[in-house]
Amino acid sequence: MSDESSGHGRRRPRPDTLAIGNHKLKPATLMMGHGFDPTLSEGSLKPPIFLTSTFVFESAAAGKRFFEGVTGKRPGGAEGLVYSRFNGPNQEILEDRLAIWEEAEDALSFSSGMSAIATLLMSFCGPGDMIVHSGPLYAATETLIGRILGKFGVGWMDFPAGATEAEIADVMRAARARGRVALIYLESPANPTNALVDVEAVRRARQELFADAPPPIAIDNTFLGPLWQKPLGHGADLSVYSLTKYAGGHSDLVAGAVVGAKALIDPIRMMRNTIGTITDPNTAWMLLRSLETLELRMTRAGENAEKVCAYLRGHPKVEHVGYLGFLAEDPSRQGDIYRRHCTGAGSTFSLYLKGGEREAFAFLDALSIAKLAVSLGGTETLASAPAAMTHLSVPDERKKALGITDNLVRISIGVEDADDLIADFEQALEAI
Ligand SMILES: *Cc1c(COP(=O)(O)O)cnc(C)c1O
Repeated sequence: MSDESSGHGRRRPRPDTLAIGNHKLKPATLMMGHGFDPTLSEGSLKPPIFLTSTFVFESAAAGKRFFEGVTGKRPGGAEGLVYSRFNGPNQEILEDRLAIWEEAEDALSFSSGMSAIATLLMSFCGPGDMIVHSGPLYAATETLIGRILGKFGVGWMDFPAGATEAEIADVMRAARARGRVALIYLESPANPTNALVDVEAVRRARQELFADAPPPIAIDNTFLGPLWQKPLGHGADLSVYSLTKYAGGHSDLVAGAVVGAKALIDPIRMMRNTIGTITDPNTAWMLLRSLETLELRMTRAGENAEKVCAYLRGHPKVEHVGYLGFLAEDPSRQGDIYRRHCTGAGSTFSLYLKGGEREAFAFLDALSIAKLAVSLGGTETLASAPAAMTHLSVPDERKKALGITDNLVRISIGVEDADDLIADFEQALEAI
C-alpha cells in the first residue's frame, strides 16, 4: 500500500526496508514483503484477500479528501481506499511490487493484458490523433488499433520491428503530417516473429521530431519482462504487461499491468477508475504469490529453453530455430539490439520443421510432456501451430510476410527437467 500519509486517521503501513546501509535490496527479495505491513492485518504473514466492494471513511472530511484524489481535483490519486472499482489493498500491494522490477515511479494493475492496453490507448488518443507503432503486434492489439479505435477517428502508421532510426523517423514524420501523434506504441520482441525493436533509436527519433510535446513511448514487455528486458531504462515511458504470461506464470489467471512515470500513469488511472478495468482482489492475491517465485521460474525456464534450443538446432528434421539466445553472438542489427536491450533470451521461440502442416501436426500430436495449447510463460511447456490457431484469420499475404508458415510450431518452455523435455521433443520428432 502506498505510504503517503493522509493525516485523516487511516493507519498506514510502516515504511519498507529497501536497502541495508548502502546495499540496495534486489527485486527477488522485495517480492516477499514489500508494500504489506502485517500489523495492519492481525499479524497475518500473508496479505488477506480483501473481498469488499467499498471502504468505510473515518470522517466526512476524509471521504471528501479521498474523492478529491479519485476525481483528479488533486494530483496523485486517492490517499485512501474508496471503492473497489478504483483500488483495493491487494491491488495496491501488487502495484507496489510490480513497480520494483523496472524501478518505475508507479504501476497499475488490470483485469487482462488487453484491458491494460485498451485503457492506455483510450487515455492518450482522441479523434484525429495518430498512433505510431511497431509491427507486428499481438493480434488483439492490432485489431484494437486498426479496427476499433478507427471507429473513433484515431489513425495509425507502423514501422517494422527492427527498423533503423532513420526508417522510424520517416514513419513518425509521415504520421505527423496526418495528425497529432498522440502515442508511440511498441512491442518487443514482436509476436510471433521475435523481432526486436530498437527502443533507444525510437527515443532518439522522437527527440529529434517532437522536441516540444513528445508523445509517450509505451512498449508491450510481456515476452521478456520484467526479468530480461527493462525498457524504461532504454527510453520507454510506459511498460505494458500481460501478467497472464510469465508474471502470473502458472496458467491459472488473466491480468495485465502498466508501469512507468507517475505523470503518465495518472491519466491512465483516471481512465481505469472511470471504466473499471482494474484486476480483482483474488487475482491480485494470486499474482503476489506468483511474484515471489518470478525470478526462480523465469531463470529456470530460460535455462531450459537454452538447452532445448541447442538440441533442436542440430536436428535433421528441423529447418530453423527462431530463438533469441542465438542473437547473443550474432553480428546482425538484431544481434546489436539484443545485446543493448536484453539480459536474457526468454523461453518462447519458433521451431520451423522440415515440411508443412502435416509434419507440424504430427509433431504436436506426438508430444507427451509439452501440452498442446496457446499462451506462454507458464510453469508447463506449451506448443501450438500459429498458422492454424492464433493467426488462422490473418490474410495469407501477411502471414507469409511475418514468417507464419504451416511448418511453424511456437513453443513456450516451462520449468520441468530439461532432459525430460529434450526426450519428449526427440520422440515427437521421430514420430513425424
Ligand atoms: C497475451 C498477450 C497480450 C494480451 O494479454 P491478455 O492477458 O491475454 O489480455 C498482449 N500482448 C502480448 C505480447 C501477449 O502475449
